[in-house]
Amino acid sequence: RAKREGKSGHHFFEPSLDEQARIRRQMELDLRQAIREGEFELYFQPLYSLTEERLKGFEALIRWQHPQHGQISPLEFIPLAEETGLILPIGEWVIREACHQASMWNDKLSVAVNVSPKQFTSPDLTGKILQAIAASGISPNRLELEITESIFIANVEKTMAILHRLRDLGVKIALDDFGTGYSSLSYLRSFPFDKVKIDRSFVTDLANGGNGHAIIRAITTLADALGMETLAEGVEEFDQLDILRREGCRNVQGFLLSKPLSALMVRQWMNGDAEKNFRASAA
Ligand code: C2E
Ligand code: MG
Ligand code: MG
Ligand code: MG
Repeated sequence: RAKREGKSGHHFFEPSLDEQARIRRQMELDLRQAIREGEFELYFQPLYSLTEERLKGFEALIRWQHPQHGQISPLEFIPLAEETGLILPIGEWVIREACHQASMWNDKLSVAVNVSPKQFTSPDLTGKILQAIAASGISPNRLELEITESIFIANVEKTMAILHRLRDLGVKIALDDFGTGYSSLSYLRSFPFDKVKIDRSFVTDLANGGNGHAIIRAITTLADALGMETLAEGVEEFDQLDILRREGCRNVQGFLLSKPLSALMVRQWMNGDAEKNFRASAA
């Protein structure tokens, strides 16, 4: 090691790699503690139907309240959880908690849960989902699993088998971040997803002119033809909403409608005027 530091020219990088490894190890220890101590919380972002003009449900998004560092984004810790296998206990908690929260909502509302690749191929995923559904008492068709194209990379046949097994449970399956993978279109042909979630990058593009409209239209037309719902992620502006509606996108999600809300805020909101209005209009 002394030799490398002396002659290889790695001198300046070595400490930063050490530092990175140290941070990683510490984060893994912290994640283990977070699981033991229950430092995670689910937030819920509304999913809104443009065609029905009503709230359809919520996407559950995990937050980590770190005792020293405060709130940490899933973008920072989900990849490490995935690498270390800690995503299994975390993901199991997410599914249970999401179903539990949904059991306290109006039963017309769905809950969407993100499922990472390692979790997806774990042997007892269907068992865990069944347990969560049974414990909460919600109807299986209120639970939607969001998976990304990356699950297909490992083994297409195995992936298909799992997707069909999940479908047989009665849960819904959405293809998340659509359009960001290498051969997105081919996956639409291989499995009848209930919903395609158009990645935020395409929605962001709409503001920059160009051919964003055409891409949205192509995806919605294709999804319609295949009998799949569409949802556009990351809608932040009225102009984007306008275009999405015109181009036939059926559902939207984004800060324009609402940021992710705490479980408590969702329940309070449900028990308030919004819920009364919803009941009145349904009656
Ligand atoms: P995702 O599944 O694509 O979730 C949507 C992300 O976009 C969320 O970020 C949400 O807060 C954010 N978002 C929604 N609307 C807007 C908008 O209008 N503008 C902008 N700029 N962002 C918007 P979040 O909560 O930070 O989650 C990031 C990613 O982390 C998720 O992307 C998902 O891949 C992953 N993730 C979150 N929760 C879980 C979980 O429980 N399990 C697993 N495996 N992954 C999760
Ligand atoms: Mg998602
Ligand atoms: Mg997404
Ligand atoms: Mg996304």
